Amino acid sequence: MDRTHLQRTLVLLKPDAVQRGVCGEIIHRFERVGLNIVGLKMAWADKAFAEKHYFDVKERHGQKILDNLTEYLIMGPVIAIVLEGVDSVAIVRKMAGTTFPFDSAPGTIRGDFAHISKDYANKHERNVANLIHASAKPEEAEYEINLWFEKKELHSYERLDDKHTF
Ligand code: GDP
Ligand code: MG
Repeated sequence: MDRTHLQRTLVLLKPDAVQRGVCGEIIHRFERVGLNIVGLKMAWADKAFAEKHYFDVKERHGQKILDNLTEYLIMGPVIAIVLEGVDSVAIVRKMAGTTFPFDSAPGTIRGDFAHISKDYANKHERNVANLIHASAKPEEAEYEINLWFEKKELHSYERLDDKHTF
């Protein structure tokens, strides 16, 4: 099957997901919805790398939130995943839920595995442990996939259920 029309997106299972032992449950959701895992590895980012990943967060949210966020991302290893499917960027954002778990609907990853609110996080100057990063736009996905993965680490393949999925 020609897969060139399919879209790729980057997911990070953040250190809280790894340390809570819920990565399998989250990855299962992506397999179940029919997204192909085309890349997957564990990585432990340092501050400079985390700032490359969150290159626009200072501009969008300010230095304090960027510092808080990079500390959170580097507090342990993450699982980086590239998923391939139809409009995968939007699908994975929908599955992730909104930024703050308090506002995320039940059935979403952030809504099902956490409940912290923006007000609570900012009042207590703590991170929003929301388990997952997902690329927000196709251009962001392209930048992030190139940052986290080398071309030779990504593999396209057919799945037995492709004819039902695409
Ligand atoms: P996302 O795309 O939904 O992850 O949200 P953003 O790209 O806007 O922000 C990146 C990450 O920064 C979020 O996932 C949160 O972990 C964190 N973040 C965003 N806004 C806030 C905030 O107001 N306070 C704190 N502490 N963290 C925030
Ligand atoms: Mg984002």
